[in-house]
Amino acid sequence: MAYDRNNIFARIIRGEIPCSTVYEDDHVLAFKDIEPKRNIHVLVIPKGPYEDMTAFAAQASEAEIVAYIRAIGLVAEKLGVDVDGYRLIANTGANGHQEVPHLHVHIVGGEPVGPMLKAK
Ligand code: 5GP
Repeated sequence: MAYDRNNIFARIIRGEIPCSTVYEDDHVLAFKDIEPKRNIHVLVIPKGPYEDMTAFAAQASEAEIVAYIRAIGLVAEKLGVDVDGYRLIANTGANGHQEVPHLHVHIVGGEPVGPMLKAK
């Protein structure tokens, strides 16, 4: 599937829509989720046009991949969630219930997030 250049996160990267920035470098932007599901809920996205982790893993440069993984760790430290723990979520595709078609990792924490749930 072709990357949608007008998805909401692409527009945030271009500065067309405001966000509450937590961290930014040449390759990565992290900002607060507009509808936080936990006490701390931050989204970390690459600035490049990658729809999901599969596309990112296959197509991103090594510099982008290194920057992205390092940024996730840096943001967790900056938020202070590294001390008590946190959850990373990367919803992917239809079955993964991904709503925005631009790779994003959710960092959720600031409280116990509970076990992963079995659907049935
Ligand atoms: P997904 O379901 O795709 O994994 O998560 C998308 C996330 O993006 C949701 O948690 C939603 O609250 C967040 N979101 C959607 N639109 C915006 C927006 O315009 N600004 C911010 N900061 N977050 C958004």
